[in-house]
Order: sequence, then structure tokens, then C-alpha cells
Amino acid sequence: MVRAASRWWVRCCAVAVLVELAFITVSLVGHGSETTRAILANVVYPLGIAVATAAAYAAARRSPRSRRRWWWLVFVANLLWLASNIYWTAYELIGRPVETASIGDVALVGSYLGLILSVGLGFTGRGALRQLRGQLDGLFVAVASGVAGWQLLVAPQLHGQFTVNTLVDVVYPLLDVACLAVFLSVGLSGQRRVPPQIALVVGGVLLSTGADVLNSALAMRDIGIDDAVNRNLYFPVVLLFAVGALWDARGQRDVAESAARHLEFDLGFWPFLLAVGGVLGWAGQDALDGRISRPVLGLVAVTIIGLTLRAQLSIRDQRRVARQLDAALAEQRRLAMTDGLTGLHNRRFGEETLHVQAERALRDGTDLGVIIIDLDHFKAVNDGYGHDAGDAVLAESAARLAGVLRSDDVLVRWGGEEFLAITPGTGAADLAALAERLRRALADQPVRLPDGAEIPVTASLGAAALPLAGVGVKAVVRAADERLYAAKSAGRNRAVTDSAPEPRPVAVATEEPPGLAATRG
Ligand code: GH3
Ligand code: MG
Ligand code: MG
Repeated sequence: MVRAASRWWVRCCAVAVLVELAFITVSLVGHGSETTRAILANVVYPLGIAVATAAAYAAARRSPRSRRRWWWLVFVANLLWLASNIYWTAYELIGRPVETASIGDVALVGSYLGLILSVGLGFTGRGALRQLRGQLDGLFVAVASGVAGWQLLVAPQLHGQFTVNTLVDVVYPLLDVACLAVFLSVGLSGQRRVPPQIALVVGGVLLSTGADVLNSALAMRDIGIDDAVNRNLYFPVVLLFAVGALWDARGQRDVAESAARHLEFDLGFWPFLLAVGGVLGWAGQDALDGRISRPVLGLVAVTIIGLTLRAQLSIRDQRRVARQLDAALAEQRRLAMTDGLTGLHNRRFGEETLHVQAERALRDGTDLGVIIIDLDHFKAVNDGYGHDAGDAVLAESAARLAGVLRSDDVLVRWGGEEFLAITPGTGAADLAALAERLRRALADQPVRLPDGAEIPVTASLGAAALPLAGVGVKAVVRAADERLYAAKSAGRNRAVTDSAPEPRPVAVATEEPPGLAATRG
């Protein structure tokens, strides 16, 4: 019930986003009459925020568990944003001027704080050292941009006095600086793969920060900006919020994140370089003014450049180590999935593949063949030729079977001398021919050992395909297993591919391959 309701929400939001987009496009292309502008400002814009809010609500209910709290935070921030907008729209509609500091500002400041928090939580990196370094980077940028921002944006708006109204003028640029600093401190140190849904919303927050900065810069120069144009700056923000939330509101489950992910480029290096450049520029200016001697400046420059290069080299080294670790991890994973003797996939991998392929086949209505191949009288091979020869026969059999299969088929070592082939796209009709080719690949020629001994090999095969009555991966494996048993009982060296009561003999049935008895000592 809840799920159905949420789905309904999600669809409505998606349609609303498209309608919004269409309206904005039409109004931009048509340059907009007074009426379209008014509708854009007083209806489309708040409606967009309402949609983004509803989408965040849906995402908070339906996103993967690990992100739900994050979406609740974004939802509350959006709700406050919506409240402040409704407040101002109402004032506009009744034609009263809005006081500079109002309850709308309280809501909007609350919304900013929520969004800043969401940026911090959404981009959190792993590892205390990285976080510490990120916080240093952020502090760097916060101080630098705070000083510059105060000088350029805030101080000119104060006009020498400080009241509640002037506080409202400066609070937004200050929050923007805080937002940027938080983003840099956690974002630049983040080694975690940030989900695109979160990246979209955080991108929206940064875009709105950019729009705020532009607004403040224009206000500082006393350049009036049309209200409708001003709102247009924030439309992409609304859309990014809504799309990010809708993406996550589709009700997916958590996917395992890769354990370690190193940044290919150390983004934190750029603010560092900027700061170094700034210091050198400043010192250079002082040197030109004669306040620092040129040799001292040269020494400082060489030291700083040397340290910078050294930092770069150590970063490169770390990256190399991280890459080696990645490769080792991938090899470990491969080994965990592989059978050492035959090089085939192991049973665990086979079971996982079976589930995935069966689900896909049932969903898409395609065929899926499963063939179990059990070598006949294999115990006799071990007994007659020794365990090492048995191993060689197993490896050679695996190679022959793999040679018959296609590249998208999967061959698994299912047990000691048992193999299982998973063949997507092979229905019941083609299964008999394939099983027969597999059987012949083993039986047609004996396995030749390095010492010249020749060991005849045969196998019994049982095969079944999806779709099958009593559908499901267990049912299809059970059917194949039963047919394998039938092939054994009917004399071995044959394939049984349907449930006919009498298995169809495909070759001369023997209790033991004739050559085996003859060659055994
Ligand atoms: P059937 O025709 O009824 O299948 O007879 P079988 O002898 O093949 O079957 P059984 O299950 O009695 O014996 C399987 C033999 O496979 C016993 C075991 O020693 C051997 N085996 C299992 N794994 C390996 C392996 O990795 N290497 C070698 N050399 N032998 C193995
Ligand atoms: Mg067996
Ligand atoms: Mg056997």
C-alpha cells in the first residue's frame, strides 16, 4: 500500500518536473510577457520547490536504507525553502512590500543550514587522515574566501552600520562561504564513491551558492537585477534537487560500494597551489617594493616549489600503491571464484550466476539451459592411473567442454568430477544437440597423458531448460540432476534432455568404457 502510494508520488513528481521544464523553456524562448513572468515567479517557481520537496519525501521513504536519513534532512531543508517562498509570494500577491528581515528569512536561513549539513554528510570521505587533510583544505579556503568575501561582498552592504536588516543582507553570503568551505573540506578529501543522486543535490546547492554570490556581487555594484531573471538563476537548482530525489525514489536496494577507491586526481592540490601562488605573488610584490631582499625571495620560492613538487611526487607514489592494491584485490576476487585445478569458475560463482541468469530469463521471457556433466567411472581412473592422472583428465575434460561452449555460456566445476554448464538463450529444443556435442567432445578421443598413456573418458549428462514447469532455478537444477541420474541408470555415456520415461540412448552403453578396462594394469 505504502509502496503503491509512493510510486504514485514519484510519477506525479516526474510529470511535474517535465511540465516545469516545458514551461520554463517556452517562457525563455518567448521572452515572456508580464503574465508569463508572473506565473513563472508566483506559481511555477514555488511549485517547482514543492515538487522537489515531495520528491525528497518520496526518496526519504524509498531510497536505499543508507541514504534515507540524508534525504529526510534534504526534505526538511526543502520544506523550509518552500515555506519562505510561499511567505514572499503571498506578500507579493497582496501587493505589500516585504520587510527586509522577516519570518521568511528565518525559514530560509534554516533551509541553508540544513543544506550545508547535507553537503557535509553526503560527501563524507573515509579515513581519519584524509578527513583531517580535507578539513585543513576547507579551513584554508574558508579563511581566504571569508576575508575576500567580507571585503568584496559584505562590507560594502553594511554601509558602516549593523542592524537586523543589514544582518539579513550579509547572512546569505556568509552561509554561502560556509557551504563552500564545508564542500571543499569534505568533498576534496572524499575517497568514497558519491552516489550520483547525492551529487545532483549537492551540485544544486553549489549552483545556488553561485547564484547568491552573483546576486551579492551585482547588488554591491548597485546593478539591479530583474526579479524574474533572478528566479531563473535558481530554476536549475530546483530541477537538480527534484531529479536527484526522483532518481532515488524508485525504490532500489543498496548496492555494495567498492571497498576502496582512490582519487585519480588529488583535488586538494589545487587550493594548495593557489595558496602557494598567492603567497609567492605577495612576497614578490614586497620584494619589488624592496621590503624583502631578492636572494631571500629566491630561497623562499625554491623551497616552496621544491616542497610542492615533493608533495606531488608522494601523491603519485600513493596512487601507484593504491593501483597495485586494487590489482591485488581484483586477483584475490578472481581466485575466490576460480577452481584451482581446472581454471573453471567454482561452485559458488556458478550458484550466483545461475540465480542472476534465471532471474533475467524469467523476467525477459528468454531461454536458459542447464547441463550437468558427470564423468563416468572416474573412481576407476584414479584407481587405475593414480590421482595425478585423474587430475590431468579432469583438467583436459574441462578444457574440451569449454571448447564446445560459447563465450557467454558459463562452465562451472560443480563437484569433484562433475561440471555444470549454464547456457543462456538455449531452449529445450537446442539443448539435446548441445549436450550431445559436449558428450562427444569427451568420448570421441581418449585423454593422452604426457607419458603416452591414453585414458578413455566418457560422461553422462542431464539437461533441463527454463522456462520449465515448477519454474525457478532450484527446479531446473533438480530436473537436470534427475535426468543425469536417469542417464547413469540407463548405462552411462549418454545425455538425457527431456522427461521421457525411457532415456534416449545416444551411444553404445557400457558399464565401464571398454578402453579403460583394457589399459588398466
Ligand atoms: P559414476 O559413473 O557413477 O559417476 O562413477 P564415479 O566413479 O565417477 O563416481 P563416484 O562419485 O563414485 O566417484 C567420483 C570420484 O571422483 C571419486 C573421487 O576420488 C574422484 N575425484 C573427485 N575430485 C577429484 C579430484 O579433484 N581429482 C581426482 N584425481 N579425483 C577426484
Ligand atoms: Mg559424481
Ligand atoms: Mg562420476
